[in-house]
Amino acid sequence: GGSLQIYDRMKEIIEEKGLRCALVLEKEPHDESIGLKKSGCHGFCEMGPLLRIEPMGWLYLKVKLEDCEEIIEKSIIHDEVVDRLVYQDESLKSYVRQEDIPFYKKQTRIALEYCGRINAESIAEYIALGGYSAVAKALFDMTSQEIVDEITESCLRGRGGGGFPAGRKWQQVLDQKEEEKYIVCNGDEGDPGAFMDRSMMEGEPHRVIEGMLIAAIATRAHHGYIYVRAEYPLAVERLQTAIDKAMDKGLLGKDILGSGFDFDLHISQGAGAFVCGEGSALTTSIEGNRGMPRVKPPRTVEHGLFNKPTVLNNVETFCNVPPIILNGAKWYQGFGPANNHGTKAFALTGNVKNTGLIEVPMGTTLREVIFDIGGGVKGGDFKAVQIGGPSGGCLCISATEDHLDMNLDFDSLKKVGAMIGSGGLVVMNDKSCMVEVARFFMNFTQNESCGKCVPCREGTKRMLELLTDITEGRGTMEHIELLEKLSDTISATALCGLGKTAASPVVSTLKYFRDEYIAHVVDKK
Ligand code: SF4
Repeated sequence: GGSLQIYDRMKEIIEEKGLRCALVLEKEPHDESIGLKKSGCHGFCEMGPLLRIEPMGWLYLKVKLEDCEEIIEKSIIHDEVVDRLVYQDESLKSYVRQEDIPFYKKQTRIALEYCGRINAESIAEYIALGGYSAVAKALFDMTSQEIVDEITESCLRGRGGGGFPAGRKWQQVLDQKEEEKYIVCNGDEGDPGAFMDRSMMEGEPHRVIEGMLIAAIATRAHHGYIYVRAEYPLAVERLQTAIDKAMDKGLLGKDILGSGFDFDLHISQGAGAFVCGEGSALTTSIEGNRGMPRVKPPRTVEHGLFNKPTVLNNVETFCNVPPIILNGAKWYQGFGPANNHGTKAFALTGNVKNTGLIEVPMGTTLREVIFDIGGGVKGGDFKAVQIGGPSGGCLCISATEDHLDMNLDFDSLKKVGAMIGSGGLVVMNDKSCMVEVARFFMNFTQNESCGKCVPCREGTKRMLELLTDITEGRGTMEHIELLEKLSDTISATALCGLGKTAASPVVSTLKYFRDEYIAHVVDKK
């Protein structure tokens, strides 16, 4: 069974045995009662369903319906560990506590702080852990300019891909004279294999709201939208529940906490078009029009949603805001290298032993991520990692480059022609065909091209044809030359980021794995 079935079975046994049970913390647990709750994502996807026993911190992995009886009997009634359900390494030494498991040990969770720890539907639980205290601080102890300065000094950069400094964006919106301003959260995570923002929206929706509310106080905006793709129904449901509960508590709406500040927040559902992750397409879609990018300038900070000044950040960026306001910019600067401070959440997938959702300080090496946290490569030796989704590139060990000890941060990746993007990390072993990888991403981009401009609409189609010819044995050296020419032309002339970066997987695989392209061509002859 899945996690929800495990939850139902646990609840059934607790009731059968007549154990006192506070099923949700909002129902005031009795001293000797048992709490059972659904949490957000713990991140260790490879080992799910996961069940954590508190207050001991024992994490049970791959829990099955038939394990539930034993867990209640041993762990709940008699405080004993069920050995076979805890993490074991090769020497069979058990890792009983979640924090001791290598997968978690090297992680630092700031944006994902509450994911997997709290009941996402309980505002009481979020507040009990200090939630919304950053809003109180921003409202009563700081001026708008002080909030913006704190975010600027922290060097928080947008986690959605571009890495633009959030403080600079907020300052530009604060400086606008317009009365009507908007805060927009980009939850339109569309990269294949990426699920960081989704986990945050599902697992800690109040954290997203709190970050947006602070941005509103900082820039004096009174309206907000969270743009979520409709393929994330649980995220939509939990965000809506969180908005309703925050309204009830006076944390949204009119006169927030008696401060005189108003902020209303709405959810706008997208239909799953990748291009709607681009700022101008996203705001156009919220306005009820077809989501297509437009020429910039004007920039979103001046003429964004409904043509008004708009702060547009992604989910993870907003989730970093409350702890920065509470702990200060200096604290945040303690993580990661200069100009790249903080942490980054990644979806670790592909040929790696421990797939899952992770968060590490910026500057962590690829080796630490793949081997220490990821547990190493599955099914062969390490060959490459594709980072940054369809807009990103491949990092690898090749004849000329060894990227394993490279720092994962905005600036280091840029130097080698890759980007963090929103944080997809697909590990590939030595059996992977890199031309096929490039073809996969080009197929995705070509499908998602909105068709507004010719270089992207036609260019991605031609590139996909060329790549398909090569992988299916019809390729020639001329195909490779044409791919290179088209890559240059599309990057230089496409209207938006989707087109400008569409060729990145091809460019990086051609750079580091050219011999594979040539082998496909030569093999044919
Ligand atoms: Fe649309 Fe592609 Fe042009 Fe962007 S680059 S506007 S996605 S056709």
